[in-house]
Amino acid sequence: MSGHDVAALQASLPALDWTTDPERLALLSRDFAWFSPILERTLQGKRADIMVRPRDEGELKQLVGECAKRRIPLTLRGAATGNYGQCTPIRGGVLVDMGALDRVIWQRDGVVRAQAGIRLGALERQLREQGFELRTMPSTFRVATLGGLFAGGFGGVGSITYGPIAAPGNVLGASAVSVEPEPQTLELRGADALALHHNWGTTGIVLELELALAPAQPWLELVVVFDNAGERSGFGGALDFGNTLALAPGIVKRNIAVLARPVPGFVTRQNNKWQQAFPPAHDAALVVVAASGEGAVRDLAARFGGRVTHQADSAEAQRRNQTILEMCWNHSTLHALKVDPGRTYLQCSFTAGRHLEQVRAVHERFGRSSDGADPADPAHPAAAEVLMHVEFIRSIDGPLICIALPLVRYAGEARLAQIIDGYRALGVRVNNPHHAHVEDGRFGGTLPAAAAAAKRRLDPLNLLNPGKLRVWPLPA
Ligand SMILES: Cc1cc2nc3c(=O)[nH]c(=O)nc-3n(C[C@H](O)[C@H](O)[C@H](O)COP(=O)(O)OP(=O)(O)OC[C@H]3O[C@@H](n4cnc5c(N)ncnc54)[C@H](O)[C@@H]3O)c2cc1C
Repeated sequence: MSGHDVAALQASLPALDWTTDPERLALLSRDFAWFSPILERTLQGKRADIMVRPRDEGELKQLVGECAKRRIPLTLRGAATGNYGQCTPIRGGVLVDMGALDRVIWQRDGVVRAQAGIRLGALERQLREQGFELRTMPSTFRVATLGGLFAGGFGGVGSITYGPIAAPGNVLGASAVSVEPEPQTLELRGADALALHHNWGTTGIVLELELALAPAQPWLELVVVFDNAGERSGFGGALDFGNTLALAPGIVKRNIAVLARPVPGFVTRQNNKWQQAFPPAHDAALVVVAASGEGAVRDLAARFGGRVTHQADSAEAQRRNQTILEMCWNHSTLHALKVDPGRTYLQCSFTAGRHLEQVRAVHERFGRSSDGADPADPAHPAAAEVLMHVEFIRSIDGPLICIALPLVRYAGEARLAQIIDGYRALGVRVNNPHHAHVEDGRFGGTLPAAAAAAKRRLDPLNLLNPGKLRVWPLPA
């Protein structure tokens, strides 16, 4: 226990929906930080003293006010699919399950306003009834919440067209609750709202978000596989195909991923239904395009030596739990770790205009199998130290780039640091996902000024998961 008097807190608000069972609290305090052996160790034993599930804004404010008076820490929890122990309370206190704050407030003119606890899959289902859909969502869309995406995520599915969620025009506004004895609800617009993005819930409690929407599309999922032919490697073909498709202005896209061999084997090893789609010794492109683009994608695939091995209606595939969207982004890491727990991952982004050259360079340097024979089994000891998984997106300022989530055989912190250095030496940006502090991942060491200003305004007592920010008090 952390020493916070949560029993007195609970007694002061008896009508709230509390959870006190220690085993459940230990479980609910965890996210997917176990993808990192380093975070797994750093975060061991960290957990909440109590959890509460506010049913409305009134209950949330009662709780926050009481915690502020008693100086008890609060940690926000969406669906706990974050990757960095983002919703793990570092110094105990109250875990706040936002899941009951799940209403759509309004939807009109291509814009929706919804409460932060709504699940993205449920939100998208409601939107599609009106002919709209989310512009971008993580591959965890089935369970992940809107607030969790905004405070902890990046984007993902849809970012090939709309960029990351932080690209101007995607998030239009937010309301936030301040952590003080008399909590206030503040309305933040545009850049002011974005100051709360990706701070892992440490700079403000997001109550509602307003998002610009995309027109709903009948999406089609295709798997295109590539073998080594002539001068071109299968991976080279898949990469060039993915890039050309990403640039093709007439084809409406939702996702383009490239999995270097033997990464698709992580999926087939778990579910042999996918064996036809992912034959051994092939690299694969996983694409989701508007149904109208089918013919053009097939023509492009043929031009680059690819073969279409799977095609499905995306809505139907999601209903049957067979969507390739759940093989993209960090789902590829999840599949890999289920088969080969000795692996971990990195998060990288490549420079616009040089992205293909950089991907090839890191793949050449770290992606070769140790015996040169490319084993079909991704868990084989000879499989390459770093297996490549690329996603195409538009960057925050527009140009096409690649992101990569390479799967790294973990041989200790020192070797991981060497690989990161090797990537950086080739000009690749690595957002090290093995750090437990907000400042040290994407922000490169320092909290941005706008985030620091939001923190001063919305959490002056530093009660939002204290210990998650490496630096407190904030420098003047
Ligand atoms: C298999 C897998 C695949 C993934 N794919 C993607 C992907 O494609 N793209 C991507 O961006 N991410 C991805 N992620 C990471 C994660 O799933 C997403 O970021 C997701 O949107 C998080 O939502 P959540 O509800 O689970 O948030 P949680 O994990 O519950 O919370 C995330 C952070 O947000 C904070 N938070 C939650 N609600 C609020 C609130 N209302 N106000 C303030 N702070 C709040 C929490 O304190 C925490 O710091 C993936 C993770 C896994 C395990």
